[in-house]
Parts: sequence; C-alpha cells; structure tokens
Amino acid sequence: MMERAVIVSIGDELTTGRTVDTNASLIADQLMGIGVEVVAVLTVGDFPERIAWAFREALERADMVISTGGLGPTADDLTTETIAEVAGRLLVFHEEVADAIRQRFAAMGRQMPENNLRQARLPEGAVILPNALGTAPGFRLEISWNGQRRYLFALPGVPREMQALLREQVLPWLQQSRGSEEVYASRVFQTFGISESALDEMVAGIVPAEAGRLSFRAAFPMISVRLTVRGQPAEASRLLDEYGQRLRERLGAFCYGEGEVTMEEVVADLFRSRGWQLALAESCTGGLIGHRITNVPGSSKFFRGSVVAYSNEAKEELLGVRSETLRLHGAVSVETAAEMAAGARDRLAAPVALAVTGIAGPEGGTPDKPVGTVCFGLATPDGVVTHRYSLWGSREWIKTLASQIGLDWLRRYALGADVPQILAGR
Ligand code: AMP
Ligand code: MG
Repeated sequence: MMERAVIVSIGDELTTGRTVDTNASLIADQLMGIGVEVVAVLTVGDFPERIAWAFREALERADMVISTGGLGPTADDLTTETIAEVAGRLLVFHEEVADAIRQRFAAMGRQMPENNLRQARLPEGAVILPNALGTAPGFRLEISWNGQRRYLFALPGVPREMQALLREQVLPWLQQSRGSEEVYASRVFQTFGISESALDEMVAGIVPAEAGRLSFRAAFPMISVRLTVRGQPAEASRLLDEYGQRLRERLGAFCYGEGEVTMEEVVADLFRSRGWQLALAESCTGGLIGHRITNVPGSSKFFRGSVVAYSNEAKEELLGVRSETLRLHGAVSVETAAEMAAGARDRLAAPVALAVTGIAGPEGGTPDKPVGTVCFGLATPDGVVTHRYSLWGSREWIKTLASQIGLDWLRRYALGADVPQILAGR
C-alpha cells in the first residue's frame, strides 16, 4: 500500500527564485486528496549530483517519488539520465516516442532538431506517460530500493503539461494500485480580526492529534485555518463536520466563512437575505469598499452607492458634515466619521451606512494623528457608533486593511455581533 510521497522539483529557475514552485503545491494538494501524505518537497537546480541526491533522499523516505522539470531537450535537462543512474538502469531509445516528437514538429511545419531525440531515451523498464501538450513525455518507473518497492514518476516542468499528466495518468493509476480507500479531507475557515498566535491559542485542543490537524495560513489581514482529517470517505466527512462545527463555535464571529469565500461576498449575502439597503461614505479608501461590494454579482439588490468625499468641501456639500465639526475635530476624527455616516444614510436613503476617514500616508501624519489613523462610523436605526483605529503599513496596505475592517463592521452588525473596538494583535 502506497502512503507516502516525496516531490522533487527540478530547475535552476526554482532555486534562483525566478519561478515559484506552483507544481509542487498542486501535486501535494492532489496527492492529499487521494490520501497520500507528502513527507517532503525537495527542490534542486539543474546539476546531476544534486538531482541524484534528491532522488536518493526521496527513495529513503517514501514509497513514491514524483518529479517535475528537467525533461526538456536541452543540455540542462538531466532528470531522465539521473533517474537511470540512480536506479541502475540503461537508457533505451523508443522509436515510437521519437516518431511522436517528429510528428509534432511536422504538424507545426518544422524540422525536428536532433537534440529532441534525447527525449526519446528512457530508463529501461519505464512506462511512457504520453504528453499530448508538449514534446517531452513523462514516465513511470518501478524499482527496488533497499529491497522495497518504489515508484518514480517523472513529469514535465511546464505547469499545464504537468497537470494534464498528473490528472489523466498518474492519479488514476495511483488510485487503482494503492488498494486503500482512505482519503484526506479538508475544510478551510476564514478569519479576520485576530492574530495568528491568538487564533492558535483559541483553537488549541479542539482536534486530537489522532483525528486530524489544523494548519494556519496568513495572508494578512485574513488568516485561514485548515482542518484536515483522514479516513474512509464517509468517516472523513463525518469527522470534518464534527470538528468543523466545534471549530466554528470556538472561533465565533472571528470566522467569516468557509472555503474560498471573500468578506464582501459574506456581507452581500447577509444584506440580501435581510433585505437591507447599504450606503457608504468613503474618504481615505477612495471608493475601495464600494469597489469590493460591486465585485459581487447582484450587489445592486442592496447597494445604494458610495459617496467618495475626499476633500473637506465634498464632505460638507455631499454628506452634510458641519464645517464646525471639521474645524474643531478635523477631517480624520470619529466626529467627522459619525456625520459622514449619518449623511450617507440620510442622502442615499439607506438604513445602514458606513463611513471611513483616515490618513493613509506616507505624508499627512501628525503626533496626534499619525499615519494609519483611521476612523469609522456606522449609522443604523440603532444609532451611530464610531471607532478610531491605529493601522500600519504602506498607503495601499492601509487602504486595503481599512476596507476589510469596514466590511467586517457591516458583517458583524448584520449578525448582531460586537463591532470590535480593537483589531486584536498584528
Ligand atoms: P522544464 O521541463 O524543466 O524545461 O521546465 C519548463 C518550464 O516550466 C520552466 O522554464 C518553468 O517556467 C516551468 N516550471 C518548471 N518547473 C516548475 C515548477 N516546479 N513550478 C512552476 N513552473 C515550473
Ligand atoms: Mg528546466
């Protein structure tokens, strides 16, 4: 039964940081889906001794090794030769592979360069994995390593070729020959407003080690928690439900959704299901919140509009902010935010209105109100609430974070949850 895999990613472009290793993450994700654990991902440049090292390490640690890259026709494509060497196999020329490559070139009206014939040489005993999208076929090779059976899969580096071979030829074969029904199943929970370490503490002990695991991924300000369980499909899905529910209870309003959902989609769902209308008054976000809301199809059902009031005059004329308020407290103040929200609510005839005004920087900060000072106001039938936040980062970052906080206020208000007075941690 095959349970463990090592992924070997090959190419100078990966070790020099020019190309992100998307192949490894895709392969890992797909293997996990059929219950194979990836114990390591080894990335090496185009050097025969490093490639050989990676394969030997991999063969020590796993039942199967999946490599990507280095199958091309050029001198720096060394995967096939190296696998042959590590496995102690000769390279055998495959006339049918050479023919297929010649035909590809003929179809494009070109002559095949001689060095493409290198791609027709495969280790003895290799099973060819035809590549309909490129010239380099992949291959599968069964070998014995310290008396244990091992499978090597060599796949091309070009992502779409690699994906096609993986999906059409590698995964189906693995599923058939593994003889295990167990799968990994996972669910992702999106959170906002709490730091990674606080989150870690909050969910500690929910999932016993033998039942599954939790992993965190921060794409700040959003942090996602992934719950992974293993078992027969029905059991895995039951475990996901059970632990998923406990997790959601523990996370409370910090969790805004599951899967790939965005904050604006959650807000849109809530407003639509409640039949509420929404208005915005945006200063420092320059319409970003409105932009995000209108990214959601069907937002016209609940979104009345956003007044982008950047100057003091616009705040007065378009939203009815009093000049006295601006003079006494400044454009970036909870007082102004409150009047902006009330003005938007009134003038756009929406029961719920959110306002944001702040200093995105890099200039414009004062000791009193440093860059990152952002004030929010929320006007609803329950009255007006405001809060002043101290955010951080670049101009663009402060705008992004402010838009996320604004949307989170709307979500929390619609849920009847507390609007957080502080953004916990960093
Ligand atoms: P190769 O098969 O090694 O000639 O790779 C062909 C091309 O595929 C490279 O130039 C990269 O642009 C891309 N590539 C190779 N390996 C990877 C990888 N692990 N992840 C994403 N792209 C890759
Ligand atoms: Mg390469």
